[in-house]
Amino acid sequence: MTIMPMGNPITQNPVTARGVLDAVKRGQELTKAHVDYFVRGVVDGSIPNYQAAAFLMAVRMGGMSDRETAFLTQAMTNSGRCLDLSGVRGVTVDKHSTGGISDGTSFIVAPLVATYGLRVPMMSGRGLGHTGGTLDKLEAILGFRTSLAEEEVVELLNKVGIAIFGQTSEIAPADKIFYGLRDVTETVDSIPLIAASIMSKKLAEGASGLVMNVTTGSGAFMSQLDEAKKLAETMVSIGKQSGRRASSVITSMDQPLGPYVGNALEIKQAIDVLSGVTNRYENFISVSVELAAHLLVHGGIYTFDQMKDARNDLGTRLASGAALKVFRDMVEAQGGDVAFIDDPSRLPRALRTIDVLATQSGYVSAINATDIGLASVYLGAGRETVDARVDPAVGIEVFKFVGDSVAQNEPLARLYVNDDARLKEAKRTLLGAYTVGSKKVQPRELILETIV
Ligand code: URA
Repeated sequence: MTIMPMGNPITQNPVTARGVLDAVKRGQELTKAHVDYFVRGVVDGSIPNYQAAAFLMAVRMGGMSDRETAFLTQAMTNSGRCLDLSGVRGVTVDKHSTGGISDGTSFIVAPLVATYGLRVPMMSGRGLGHTGGTLDKLEAILGFRTSLAEEEVVELLNKVGIAIFGQTSEIAPADKIFYGLRDVTETVDSIPLIAASIMSKKLAEGASGLVMNVTTGSGAFMSQLDEAKKLAETMVSIGKQSGRRASSVITSMDQPLGPYVGNALEIKQAIDVLSGVTNRYENFISVSVELAAHLLVHGGIYTFDQMKDARNDLGTRLASGAALKVFRDMVEAQGGDVAFIDDPSRLPRALRTIDVLATQSGYVSAINATDIGLASVYLGAGRETVDARVDPAVGIEVFKFVGDSVAQNEPLARLYVNDDARLKEAKRTLLGAYTVGSKKVQPRELILETIV
């Protein structure tokens, strides 16, 4: 990842789309006027997608200064209206993840902190690159609406405590456009683009306390810890400059966070955990509880010195099933069929399953989690073009994690399949994701660093 050193010349180029593109290409620093002009043009359609895509690639390759990143975030936040949460009774908080595999912690964190009276207006995204998206997952529930009017968000927050919804043409519209383009132009893994994408949504949605889960490792956009740290610091700094209580937790994404990867499969995973099931979900629960603990601090319920108590309390509350009721109420209020929550076996199911078998005995010494995500995309769980439809039913169930012993011909994972078109590729990619060695290795710590 290249971060442009400060001190590059501030561009004298004209404030036009080509002026912006030329400056970014040459590594010249953009002024606020250039960034505002470009973002406005992308949103009003006067700058076409091909120029927007060229901008994204140039930023991905050349980076941005902290000042440019702040300009981009502001311009994207102001590309639409900000939610008016003045009618919400209670403290508003939210969490966002930079993305990963089986990373559906939002479904646990939001309802869990709502049981303490906090309100969570969660503006979320769709699948991005090899990672899954909260909105795609929720749409596996028949009837669930991710597009909400502002008044509805406020009503839901007061009534249920949480609302999960997407960017609209009114709120954070620039992110909606850039996000879709980045997904299919290999321009996701960029500190300024991720920071601006996440923080513009979070600032527009208006929550007063924010925790960002910044993932690092083989399944994350920031594969290296130092890059993840820079991203985490950038987002916390943008949040604080905008008057929010903000923190980041850096977590390892060296393997899928939970056993299920895919849209309906990750809803099933969430319902299991909200129902108090813990077996196979230990890592998923640990990260969820850590993020929720930060929100309890931002919500004034605990302090950072009391994190241990917060975690213990959250663990007990999760086991009680209280958060499941909040999740169910949200599904109902957003038009979803709660029969799917009461009986997850009714969620969309793939036509068949195929186990992928280990080719040798030993211990799993590494998993390329990006490849697990890609295998799931090849099965149809994600998009390879902007307009592609995701298949809610397909995905992967992971049986073997880092450090596990495995015998030859034992299943490493199970594919949930509807369409054979790219099945071979999915199988090959999944098998290639595993490294099996003769020595047992310990996975890296899950919670790596906290930035407050
Ligand atoms: N989540 C987002 O909302 N944007 C990104 O760029 C990455 C993850």
